[in-house]
Amino acid sequence: MPDTLPLSAVQHYMYCPRQCALIHVEKVWDENRFTSEGRLLHLRADSGVSGRRGGVDVDRSVPVRSARLGLYGVADVVEIRSDSSGREVPYPVEYKRGSPKLQDWDRAQLCAQAMCLEEMLGVSIAEGAIFYGKPRRREVVLFDSALRDVVERVCVALHEMVKNAVLPRAVPGQKCRGCSLTERCMPGKRNRGVASYLKAGLE
Ligand code: SF4
Repeated sequence: MPDTLPLSAVQHYMYCPRQCALIHVEKVWDENRFTSEGRLLHLRADSGVSGRRGGVDVDRSVPVRSARLGLYGVADVVEIRSDSSGREVPYPVEYKRGSPKLQDWDRAQLCAQAMCLEEMLGVSIAEGAIFYGKPRRREVVLFDSALRDVVERVCVALHEMVKNAVLPRAVPGQKCRGCSLTERCMPGKRNRGVASYLKAGLE
């Protein structure tokens, strides 16, 4: 693997490879309502105090890294739980704006985080959770072989794209409505109205 990339690149790549390349190859970033809300939620999670809560040790803002996957990042929260044999097992919890998604974007990012922790600590992590802002509840994520395969494949594709500085072509879709980089991706399109642009693109 080439240089390490931020964990968030996994989610960006799955959401839209072009968006991922704009951020991690071209190094551009624009805030919109969605990214601001997400950042605030992370800040809130990170500003909490580490310690014991409800009988569980809770660490916040835990740096994670995997040389094998070529990823680094910060886990919002890692709870230390005990498995059936009494061994301590990390349980990562990620904070996300919005609601649970059908697609695996967020689940894969959390799984990548767990795979980093496994490599760092020499443990096996079977599950974690994502806390969504709407509704304010946790979704449990099982780190099964299918999800791990997705992470492995995305990491290979992601590093290949960044190493070769590839900027994939735009593939317009519903995802563009929530993208903060529409103007960077297709300058002038927002002025025409995203709806008409999407319609033209889909046609
Ligand atoms: S506007 Fe659409 S195609 Fe362009 S980067 Fe954003 S999501 Fe991808």
